[in-house]
Amino acid sequence: MNGPLDLDIPWLRPLQQSLTEAVDQGRLGHAVLIQVDPGLGGDWLATWISARLFCSSGKAAAPCGQCVDCRRVAAGEQPDLLRLSPIEESKEIRIDQVREMAAELALTGHGRGRKVALITPAERLNRNAANALLKTLEEPAGNSLLLLVSGEPSRLPATVLSRCTRVGVPVPSTGELVSWLLTHGKKGVDWRAVLSAIGPRPLLALQVDAEAIADLQRETVRALDQVVSGSLDPVETAETWGKEDFALRITCIENWLVGRIREWATGKGASSSEALFAALDEAREARQWAETPINKPLALERLLWRLNAAATTRRPA
Ligand SMILES: [Zn+2]
Repeated sequence: MNGPLDLDIPWLRPLQQSLTEAVDQGRLGHAVLIQVDPGLGGDWLATWISARLFCSSGKAAAPCGQCVDCRRVAAGEQPDLLRLSPIEESKEIRIDQVREMAAELALTGHGRGRKVALITPAERLNRNAANALLKTLEEPAGNSLLLLVSGEPSRLPATVLSRCTRVGVPVPSTGELVSWLLTHGKKGVDWRAVLSAIGPRPLLALQVDAEAIADLQRETVRALDQVVSGSLDPVETAETWGKEDFALRITCIENWLVGRIREWATGKGASSSEALFAALDEAREARQWAETPINKPLALERLLWRLNAAATTRRPA
Protein backbone atom coordinates (compact mmCIF):
# COMPACT_ATOMS: atom_id res chain seq x y z
CA MET A 1 0.00 0.00 0.00
CA ASN A 2 1.04 3.63 -0.37
CA GLY A 3 0.63 5.68 2.75
CA PRO A 4 -1.50 5.50 5.89
CA LEU A 5 -5.25 4.87 5.82
CA ASP A 6 -6.13 8.46 6.70
CA LEU A 7 -4.38 9.90 3.64
CA ASP A 8 -6.55 12.56 1.99
CA ILE A 9 -6.47 12.14 -1.79
CA PRO A 10 -8.98 14.56 -3.36
CA TRP A 11 -9.25 12.85 -6.75
CA LEU A 12 -10.19 9.57 -5.06
CA ARG A 13 -12.81 11.09 -2.74
CA PRO A 14 -15.83 10.68 -5.07
CA LEU A 15 -15.01 7.01 -5.54
CA GLN A 16 -14.38 6.49 -1.82
CA GLN A 17 -17.82 7.97 -1.24
CA SER A 18 -19.63 5.82 -3.79
CA LEU A 19 -17.80 2.63 -2.79
CA THR A 20 -18.60 3.33 0.86
CA GLU A 21 -22.29 3.68 0.02
CA ALA A 22 -22.22 0.50 -2.01
CA VAL A 23 -20.59 -1.38 0.89
CA ASP A 24 -23.06 0.01 3.42
CA GLN A 25 -26.04 -0.85 1.28
CA GLY A 26 -24.67 -4.29 0.54
CA ARG A 27 -24.64 -3.76 -3.23
CA LEU A 28 -20.91 -3.80 -3.90
CA GLY A 29 -21.07 -7.13 -5.67
CA HIS A 30 -18.31 -9.68 -5.31
CA ALA A 31 -15.86 -8.36 -7.89
CA VAL A 32 -14.90 -4.74 -8.46
CA LEU A 33 -12.42 -3.45 -11.02
CA ILE A 34 -10.92 -0.09 -10.10
CA GLN A 35 -9.63 1.51 -13.27
CA VAL A 36 -6.94 4.01 -12.37
CA ASP A 37 -3.56 4.94 -13.79
CA PRO A 38 -0.64 3.61 -11.73
CA GLY A 39 0.68 5.95 -9.09
CA LEU A 40 -2.64 7.71 -8.60
CA GLY A 41 -3.55 5.69 -5.53
CA GLY A 42 -5.51 2.69 -6.86
CA ASP A 43 -3.75 0.28 -4.49
CA TRP A 44 -4.30 2.68 -1.63
CA LEU A 45 -8.01 2.98 -2.43
CA ALA A 46 -8.44 -0.79 -2.63
CA THR A 47 -6.65 -1.15 0.71
CA TRP A 48 -8.77 1.61 2.21
CA ILE A 49 -12.02 -0.03 1.16
CA SER A 50 -10.75 -3.38 2.50
CA ALA A 51 -9.97 -1.67 5.79
CA ARG A 52 -13.51 -0.33 5.90
CA LEU A 53 -14.78 -3.89 5.57
CA PHE A 54 -12.47 -5.21 8.29
CA CYS A 55 -12.57 -2.22 10.70
CA SER A 56 -13.93 -3.30 14.07
CA SER A 57 -14.44 0.19 15.54
CA GLY A 58 -18.11 0.26 14.60
CA LYS A 59 -17.67 3.91 13.62
CA ALA A 60 -19.55 5.35 10.67
CA ALA A 61 -16.32 6.97 9.50
CA ALA A 62 -14.57 3.62 9.18
CA PRO A 63 -11.83 2.73 8.58
CA CYS A 64 -10.81 4.28 11.87
CA GLY A 65 -7.13 3.52 11.28
CA GLN A 66 -6.68 2.78 15.00
CA CYS A 67 -8.34 -0.55 15.77
CA VAL A 68 -6.39 -3.79 15.59
CA ASP A 69 -8.02 -4.71 12.26
CA CYS A 70 -7.20 -1.40 10.60
CA ARG A 71 -3.63 -1.61 11.86
CA ARG A 72 -3.34 -5.13 10.51
CA VAL A 73 -4.57 -4.01 7.10
CA ALA A 74 -2.15 -1.06 7.04
CA ALA A 75 0.74 -3.30 8.06
CA GLY A 76 -0.16 -5.93 5.46
CA GLU A 77 -0.85 -8.43 8.24
CA GLN A 78 -4.59 -8.91 7.93
CA PRO A 79 -4.91 -12.68 7.34
CA ASP A 80 -8.23 -12.30 5.50
CA LEU A 81 -6.83 -9.79 3.02
CA LEU A 82 -4.94 -11.56 0.24
CA ARG A 83 -2.72 -9.67 -2.17
CA LEU A 84 -1.80 -10.84 -5.64
CA SER A 85 0.94 -9.01 -7.48
CA PRO A 86 3.73 -10.11 -9.79
CA ILE A 87 6.31 -11.92 -7.70
CA GLU A 88 9.71 -10.25 -7.62
CA GLU A 89 11.38 -10.47 -11.01
CA SER A 90 8.44 -12.15 -12.71
CA LYS A 91 6.39 -9.52 -14.50
CA GLU A 92 3.26 -11.64 -14.39
CA ILE A 93 0.68 -12.82 -11.92
CA ARG A 94 0.71 -16.57 -12.40
CA ILE A 95 -1.85 -19.34 -12.31
CA ASP A 96 -0.48 -20.93 -9.13
CA GLN A 97 -0.95 -17.59 -7.33
CA VAL A 98 -4.59 -17.45 -8.46
CA ARG A 99 -5.21 -21.07 -7.49
CA GLU A 100 -3.72 -20.51 -4.07
CA MET A 101 -5.92 -17.45 -3.63
CA ALA A 102 -9.05 -19.35 -4.71
CA ALA A 103 -8.30 -22.11 -2.20
CA GLU A 104 -7.73 -19.54 0.52
CA LEU A 105 -11.01 -17.74 -0.30
CA ALA A 106 -12.88 -21.02 -0.04
CA LEU A 107 -11.79 -21.37 3.61
CA THR A 108 -13.76 -19.59 6.30
CA GLY A 109 -12.39 -16.20 7.29
CA HIS A 110 -10.49 -15.65 10.51
CA GLY A 111 -12.71 -12.80 11.68
CA ARG A 112 -16.30 -12.18 10.70
CA GLY A 113 -16.09 -14.47 7.73
CA ARG A 114 -15.27 -11.89 5.08
CA LYS A 115 -12.29 -12.39 2.81
CA VAL A 116 -10.90 -9.91 0.34
CA ALA A 117 -8.47 -10.56 -2.49
CA LEU A 118 -6.68 -7.57 -3.96
CA ILE A 119 -5.21 -8.14 -7.43
CA THR A 120 -2.86 -5.42 -8.62
CA PRO A 121 -1.93 -4.50 -11.29
CA ALA A 122 -4.60 -6.82 -12.64
CA GLU A 123 -3.45 -6.52 -16.26
CA ARG A 124 -0.38 -8.50 -15.22
CA LEU A 125 -2.50 -11.66 -14.86
CA ASN A 126 -1.18 -13.90 -17.58
CA ARG A 127 -3.62 -15.78 -19.81
CA ASN A 128 -3.74 -18.94 -17.69
CA ALA A 129 -4.06 -16.96 -14.49
CA ALA A 130 -6.93 -14.92 -15.93
CA ASN A 131 -8.68 -18.13 -17.00
CA ALA A 132 -8.24 -19.60 -13.54
CA LEU A 133 -9.65 -16.41 -12.04
CA LEU A 134 -12.80 -16.77 -14.14
CA LYS A 135 -13.89 -19.74 -12.08
CA THR A 136 -13.70 -17.69 -8.88
CA LEU A 137 -15.54 -14.83 -10.57
CA GLU A 138 -18.30 -17.16 -11.71
CA GLU A 139 -18.68 -18.98 -8.42
CA PRO A 140 -17.50 -16.63 -5.70
CA ALA A 141 -16.72 -18.31 -2.42
CA GLY A 142 -19.10 -17.28 0.37
CA ASN A 143 -18.73 -13.70 1.42
CA SER A 144 -15.55 -12.97 -0.51
CA LEU A 145 -14.73 -9.82 -2.41
CA LEU A 146 -12.32 -9.50 -5.31
CA LEU A 147 -10.78 -6.08 -5.88
CA LEU A 148 -8.89 -5.68 -9.15
CA VAL A 149 -6.82 -2.56 -9.74
CA SER A 150 -5.71 -1.81 -13.28
CA GLY A 151 -4.46 1.10 -15.34
CA GLU A 152 -4.86 -0.92 -18.52
CA PRO A 153 -8.08 -2.94 -18.24
CA SER A 154 -8.17 -3.39 -22.02
CA ARG A 155 -5.38 -5.93 -21.54
CA LEU A 156 -7.70 -8.12 -19.47
CA PRO A 157 -9.90 -10.72 -21.20
CA ALA A 158 -13.48 -9.57 -21.88
CA THR A 159 -14.72 -12.56 -19.91
CA VAL A 160 -13.02 -11.21 -16.78
CA LEU A 161 -14.12 -7.62 -17.40
CA SER A 162 -17.76 -8.57 -17.90
CA ARG A 163 -17.88 -10.20 -14.48
CA CYS A 164 -16.64 -7.17 -12.59
CA THR A 165 -18.35 -3.99 -11.52
CA ARG A 166 -16.18 -1.30 -13.12
CA VAL A 167 -15.39 2.00 -11.49
CA GLY A 168 -12.87 4.58 -12.63
CA VAL A 169 -10.78 7.54 -11.55
CA PRO A 170 -10.17 10.33 -14.07
CA VAL A 171 -6.59 11.69 -14.23
CA PRO A 172 -6.43 14.96 -12.27
CA SER A 173 -4.75 18.04 -13.74
CA THR A 174 -1.00 18.49 -13.19
CA GLY A 175 -1.81 21.59 -11.14
CA GLU A 176 -3.96 19.56 -8.76
CA LEU A 177 -1.26 16.89 -8.41
CA VAL A 178 1.49 19.45 -7.81
CA SER A 179 -0.49 21.24 -5.10
CA TRP A 180 -1.23 17.89 -3.41
CA LEU A 181 2.49 17.03 -3.45
CA LEU A 182 3.35 20.45 -2.01
CA THR A 183 1.19 19.55 1.00
CA HIS A 184 2.11 15.89 1.32
CA GLY A 185 5.68 15.69 0.07
CA LYS A 186 9.06 17.04 1.07
CA LYS A 187 9.44 20.81 1.08
CA GLY A 188 11.48 22.59 -1.54
CA VAL A 189 11.12 19.96 -4.28
CA ASP A 190 10.27 20.97 -7.84
CA TRP A 191 7.28 18.61 -8.03
CA ARG A 192 6.28 19.76 -11.49
CA ALA A 193 9.68 18.61 -12.77
CA VAL A 194 9.32 15.29 -10.91
CA LEU A 195 5.90 14.60 -12.48
CA SER A 196 7.28 15.62 -15.82
CA ALA A 197 9.83 12.81 -15.49
CA ILE A 198 7.70 10.06 -13.95
CA GLY A 199 4.27 10.97 -15.32
CA PRO A 200 1.14 11.80 -13.30
CA ARG A 201 2.04 9.46 -10.44
CA PRO A 202 1.94 11.47 -7.22
CA LEU A 203 2.02 8.48 -4.86
CA LEU A 204 5.06 7.15 -6.65
CA ALA A 205 6.57 10.65 -6.49
CA LEU A 206 6.47 10.42 -2.70
CA GLN A 207 8.59 7.27 -2.75
CA VAL A 208 11.34 8.20 -5.17
CA ASP A 209 14.42 10.38 -4.76
CA ALA A 210 12.49 13.45 -5.89
CA GLU A 211 15.41 15.90 -5.97
CA ALA A 212 17.52 13.60 -8.13
CA ILE A 213 14.61 13.08 -10.52
CA ALA A 214 13.88 16.81 -10.73
CA ASP A 215 17.56 17.36 -11.60
CA LEU A 216 17.42 14.66 -14.24
CA GLN A 217 14.28 16.19 -15.74
CA ARG A 218 15.85 19.66 -15.98
CA GLU A 219 19.04 18.24 -17.46
CA THR A 220 17.03 16.24 -20.02
CA VAL A 221 14.99 19.25 -21.12
CA ARG A 222 18.15 21.36 -21.44
CA ALA A 223 19.77 18.65 -23.54
CA LEU A 224 16.70 18.26 -25.75
CA ASP A 225 16.72 21.98 -26.50
CA GLN A 226 20.40 21.68 -27.40
CA VAL A 227 19.91 18.61 -29.57
CA VAL A 228 17.21 20.45 -31.47
CA SER A 229 19.28 23.58 -31.88
CA GLY A 230 22.20 21.48 -33.10
CA SER A 231 24.58 22.29 -30.23
CA LEU A 232 24.52 18.79 -28.75
CA ASP A 233 25.34 15.54 -30.52
CA PRO A 234 22.35 13.14 -30.54
CA VAL A 235 24.63 10.11 -30.85
CA GLU A 236 26.60 10.88 -27.69
CA THR A 237 23.47 11.90 -25.80
CA ALA A 238 21.68 8.70 -26.77
CA GLU A 239 24.71 6.68 -25.70
CA THR A 240 24.61 8.20 -22.19
CA TRP A 241 20.82 8.08 -21.78
CA GLY A 242 20.56 4.51 -23.03
CA LYS A 243 22.76 3.26 -20.19
CA GLU A 244 20.45 4.21 -17.33
CA ASP A 245 17.14 5.89 -16.53
CA PHE A 246 15.85 5.02 -20.00
CA ALA A 247 12.17 5.09 -18.95
CA LEU A 248 12.57 8.43 -17.16
CA ARG A 249 14.26 10.00 -20.16
CA ILE A 250 11.48 8.77 -22.44
CA THR A 251 8.77 10.30 -20.22
CA CYS A 252 10.75 13.57 -20.21
CA ILE A 253 10.91 13.45 -24.00
CA GLU A 254 7.17 12.82 -24.22
CA ASN A 255 6.41 15.77 -21.99
CA TRP A 256 8.85 17.97 -23.87
CA LEU A 257 7.03 17.07 -27.10
CA VAL A 258 3.64 17.71 -25.54
CA GLY A 259 4.95 21.15 -24.56
CA ARG A 260 6.04 21.82 -28.13
CA ILE A 261 2.67 20.67 -29.45
CA ARG A 262 0.95 23.04 -27.02
CA GLU A 263 3.11 25.89 -28.28
CA TRP A 264 2.14 24.97 -31.78
CA ALA A 265 -1.56 24.88 -30.84
CA THR A 266 -1.38 28.37 -29.40
CA GLY A 267 0.32 29.62 -32.54
CA LYS A 268 3.72 30.14 -30.89
CA GLY A 269 5.77 27.24 -32.17
CA ALA A 270 7.12 27.27 -35.69
CA SER A 271 7.45 23.47 -36.01
CA SER A 272 5.19 21.29 -38.09
CA SER A 273 2.51 19.63 -35.97
CA GLU A 274 2.57 16.51 -38.09
CA ALA A 275 6.27 15.93 -37.43
CA LEU A 276 5.77 16.61 -33.71
CA PHE A 277 2.88 14.16 -33.44
CA ALA A 278 4.86 11.52 -35.31
CA ALA A 279 7.73 11.99 -32.87
CA LEU A 280 5.32 11.75 -29.93
CA ASP A 281 3.94 8.47 -31.28
CA GLU A 282 7.46 7.14 -31.51
CA ALA A 283 8.30 8.26 -27.98
CA ARG A 284 5.18 6.53 -26.64
CA GLU A 285 6.14 3.40 -28.48
CA ALA A 286 9.65 3.64 -27.04
CA ARG A 287 8.17 3.50 -23.55
CA GLN A 288 7.22 -0.13 -24.19
CA TRP A 289 10.88 -0.88 -24.90
CA ALA A 290 12.00 -0.03 -21.38
CA GLU A 291 11.51 -3.60 -20.24
CA THR A 292 12.89 -5.29 -23.34
CA PRO A 293 16.49 -6.08 -24.26
CA ILE A 294 16.31 -3.73 -27.25
CA ASN A 295 19.44 -1.70 -28.05
CA LYS A 296 18.38 1.38 -26.07
CA PRO A 297 21.10 3.82 -27.18
CA LEU A 298 20.22 3.06 -30.79
CA ALA A 299 16.49 3.46 -30.14
CA LEU A 300 17.12 6.77 -28.37
CA GLU A 301 19.38 7.99 -31.13
CA ARG A 302 16.64 7.38 -33.67
CA LEU A 303 14.16 9.20 -31.49
CA LEU A 304 16.50 12.18 -30.99
CA TRP A 305 17.08 12.53 -34.71
CA ARG A 306 13.33 12.41 -35.14
CA LEU A 307 12.95 15.23 -32.60
CA ASN A 308 15.60 17.20 -34.33
CA ALA A 309 13.77 16.80 -37.64
CA ALA A 310 10.41 17.56 -36.05
CA ALA A 311 11.62 20.76 -34.45
CA THR A 312 13.26 22.00 -37.61
CA THR A 313 10.42 21.09 -39.97
CA ARG A 314 8.54 24.33 -40.38
CA ARG A 315 4.79 24.47 -40.35
CA PRO A 316 3.40 25.19 -43.79
CA ALA A 317 3.09 28.92 -44.39
ZN1 LIG B 1 -10.65 0.40 12.42
